Amino acid sequence: MALLPIIQPDNPTLRQKAVRVSSFGPELQKLIDDMVDTMTAAPGVGLAAPQVNVSQRLIVVRLSDDEESKKEHGEEAGKLYVVANPKIIKASRDLVEGVEGCLSIPGWVGTVMRHEEVVITGQDRHGKDIRIKARDWLARVFQHEIDHLDGRLYTDIAEEMWRPDERDEDGEGDPT
Ligand code: ZN
Repeated sequence: MALLPIIQPDNPTLRQKAVRVSSFGPELQKLIDDMVDTMTAAPGVGLAAPQVNVSQRLIVVRLSDDEESKKEHGEEAGKLYVVANPKIIKASRDLVEGVEGCLSIPGWVGTVMRHEEVVITGQDRHGKDIRIKARDWLARVFQHEIDHLDGRLYTDIAEEMWRPDERDEDGEGDPT
């Protein structure tokens, strides 16, 4: 298990447009495993390669598998998604507001409008084409992570930001 340092916005990698993944060899496999370990340890529900200072189009997503999450998200809870070169090919017109955090911006959360439903294409860890339909919280996490690949942070589009500690209330958004 290897934990990678998660960078913060003072590192320019977080603002770069990441390049496509083109090789699915051992180096990528190690990066994926390390990203999953890093996301799990943080803990977070999503991580994009630029957050560990690797400017490649790769994301990992895993919603919590605790009881509450299972009730809310069914079989999506605890399921690991590894997507190289993810692309949103379809997005619902409906936008929904939700609370997000980001592992690269510790201590803050904010409200962000996102598409309620998205369809994503990309490749799995072995380069095989995949297609994922996601809605609600899972769709939000995917949109947040894919934004990272284009150098966008949720703070760019958040309507309001606050520090959950200071308000003495739970930020419901798990960091991504
Ligand atoms: Zn993030």
